[in-house]
Amino acid sequence: MIIGCPKEVKVQEYRVGLTPANVLAYVEAGHTVYIEHDAGTEIGFSDAEYQAAGATLTDKATLFAKSEMIIKVKEPIESEYHYFRENQILYTYLHLAADKPLTEMLLAKKIQAIAYETIKTPTGLPCLAPMSSIAGRLATLEAAKYIQKTFGGKGVLLSGTAGTPKAKVVILGGGVVGLNAAQIAMGIGADVTILDINAARLAYIDQIFAMKIKTLTSSRGNILHLLPDADVVIGAVLIPGAKTPHLLTREDLKLMKKGSILVDVAIDQGGCFETSKATTHVDPIYEVEGIIHYCVANMPGCVARTSTLGLTDSTLQYGLDIAKLGVTKACLADPALLQGLNTYAGHCTFKGVADALDIEY
Ligand code: NAD
Repeated sequence: MIIGCPKEVKVQEYRVGLTPANVLAYVEAGHTVYIEHDAGTEIGFSDAEYQAAGATLTDKATLFAKSEMIIKVKEPIESEYHYFRENQILYTYLHLAADKPLTEMLLAKKIQAIAYETIKTPTGLPCLAPMSSIAGRLATLEAAKYIQKTFGGKGVLLSGTAGTPKAKVVILGGGVVGLNAAQIAMGIGADVTILDINAARLAYIDQIFAMKIKTLTSSRGNILHLLPDADVVIGAVLIPGAKTPHLLTREDLKLMKKGSILVDVAIDQGGCFETSKATTHVDPIYEVEGIIHYCVANMPGCVARTSTLGLTDSTLQYGLDIAKLGVTKACLADPALLQGLNTYAGHCTFKGVADALDIEY
């Protein structure tokens, strides 16, 4: 198959759909790979490395014109729509439920579109988990930074030092984000509490952290009880297919000490604090009731090299399967990949998207 990986065009998006190592895997499997000039230069993957791995460098228009499968990171934006050709395969993050114009383009051009975020195995979302893991780790690191006095925080070192108290980090949601946030917080010596509504998950967390962090059932009472002493609260909640609940109101913030930090990782799903609004890496924080809010919706973007490596590790094997078998056979052979199929031959093939956009399934 002929595969093309264009340079991403969204503002501040430095990730790339294929690394030089990925190119080598496709080339060794007998495929042809086109890479757009400078697709990975910003994050240390040079054109020379791609060429050495067997890719042909080209411009965007030629790449789209020649490739049977386009491998990207982010959903195409309007300026990219015209490049797509009928029946082309698109393998990328898509988030179609929130993007009717893109869905309409994919349907009109009969694109065979596979969304990373809906590929689903019995144990989870393999192409989404690496980004959640990175966002969780970053959540604690960002909190550790913004709680410093120089950034407007209360001036606390999360680990404390000998003879001083450790900072109290409260994590709402013990899924992939929450667990990774806890790992880093525990690693730097903070006092960590995770709250979740899933008792089995809390039991698992209790075991893997060998009782070194506290677990609590997520109830309004338990959350309010923790707020006066919390230095950092990380929102990492997800209810699949439903709106994220607001676990903290504006009024609740008055219980917290000024200069404490809220990190709302769940902001990409609407956020789990009433006072959250999406921010960017350029202007990541703002203050409400004296509490610093960090609500960046694409946290992994600031560590684009690590994010690219994590993402492409998870997408490579599915991509190789598609390249070998074509979308139809690859999806029929693998139920996880079939879940990833969002549009096919002019039809919307993912129920959640069809329902959200009120289009035919
Ligand atoms: P996950 O499904 O692995 O975990 C979510 C957890 O929340 C589950 O354990 C669930 O039981 C728990 N939960 C649900 N309701 C709760 C409640 N009322 N109180 C406490 N816990 C509750 O999801 P994840 O991969 O960890 O993702 C968490 C959130 O982070 C999602 O909204 C995801 O979209 C978001 N995310 C954001 C970024 C970013 O850059 N901002 C990056 C990755 C993920």
